[in-house]
Amino acid sequence: MTNSPFNIDAIRRDFPSLDQHVHGQPLVYLDSAATSQKPLPVIQCITDYYSGANANVHRGSHSLTASATNRFEAARQTVADFIGASVNGIVWTRGATEALNLIAQSYARQMLKEGDEILISEMEHHANIVPWQIVAEQTGAKIVKWPLDPTRCQLDMSVFDSLLTSRTKLVAVAHISNVTGTRNPVETVIEKAHALGAVVVVDGAQAVVHESVNVEKMDADFYVFSGHKLFAPAGIGALYGKPDILEKMPPWHGGGKMVDNVSFEGTTYTTSPAKFEAGTPNVAGALALAEAINWFNSIDRNGAEQHVASLQAELVEGIRNIEDLSIIGLQQGASVVAFHIDGVHHSDIATLLDQQGIAVRSGQHCAHPLMDALGINGCVRVSIAIYNTSDDIKRCVSAIQKACDLL
Ligand code: PLP
Repeated sequence: MTNSPFNIDAIRRDFPSLDQHVHGQPLVYLDSAATSQKPLPVIQCITDYYSGANANVHRGSHSLTASATNRFEAARQTVADFIGASVNGIVWTRGATEALNLIAQSYARQMLKEGDEILISEMEHHANIVPWQIVAEQTGAKIVKWPLDPTRCQLDMSVFDSLLTSRTKLVAVAHISNVTGTRNPVETVIEKAHALGAVVVVDGAQAVVHESVNVEKMDADFYVFSGHKLFAPAGIGALYGKPDILEKMPPWHGGGKMVDNVSFEGTTYTTSPAKFEAGTPNVAGALALAEAINWFNSIDRNGAEQHVASLQAELVEGIRNIEDLSIIGLQQGASVVAFHIDGVHHSDIATLLDQQGIAVRSGQHCAHPLMDALGINGCVRVSIAIYNTSDDIKRCVSAIQKACDLL
């Protein structure tokens, strides 16, 4: 299918939330790495589902439940196709965080022994650190930090080579950093880790919206993402696991629909992925995530990527000469720019931008170890999505300049 060329006006018409005022100023939303705004087809999908299609899934045999079940499973197929996976490798979760906890508690907790090592990059979001710390405490495994080069905000493969040993059982790494937009060489990490028998968990929360992902080609053992950064609602996401690994993992949560037979003498479990989906799932969320993916696939993705890259370049050009402002680990072509200003608290800048109608994120970005490595107590992150415009960037640049003049 050939999509029509990227058309920013058509894209923006799909996002009613962009058409609002904040503090009397037209909204400029530059916080999409935290969560994206939602296009009309996704909003409509949720309304339609609850207006006429709502039913529980995999329960009973009436028409509504049969139809909801078919659509729910079709949505799983859409997610699988989107990341190049087979459908039995896709487990619904509430998001990336829940998926990582599932891997830690179901896979890693059974597999790790005292003295085993979990190698984690220093640029990870807390969601890809804390679950491993919990499981390390439970099993006696050791966390090993893969430090980054703070001047480039990149991970060095020679450092990885020196830390990866036969004791390494699991490597946890982000596909793309949520703070700097650094794209990590996950393919090389996976190849090297596999050579020593370690499995690799890739956090794709920031990546799925920026590049075409193919988990099977990448050979990831696990890959996770959240729907809400991908134009879908919050509360739905996916865990990909290699089907043979998932099949061997015990359930994490117990309850309805993940069993074959329950008696007081003992319970037998069903197969994966249902084994990991105890209780009533977020059916509307799953359908809306599939709708979001279909919507995203219907636009010119290359054109969209070039659009975002050119806005990032415009932003960098606009702020690079602002006095005392330092861009942190600039990654050309990424969708984010993080910066700090000497002597000015990051939250003061974000507040002044908000007063001018501009939404950006300030703080530690759930990445305390990265902040420590960079020697900063936080920063401002401007994150660009396909619905932003050159005008948004111009307003952001002039608002940053104004904030600096004031502070
Ligand atoms: N990993 C990365 C790289 C993220 O950016 C985020 C969210 O910001 C997460 C994990 C956690 O995602 P969620 O809060 O949707 O579970």
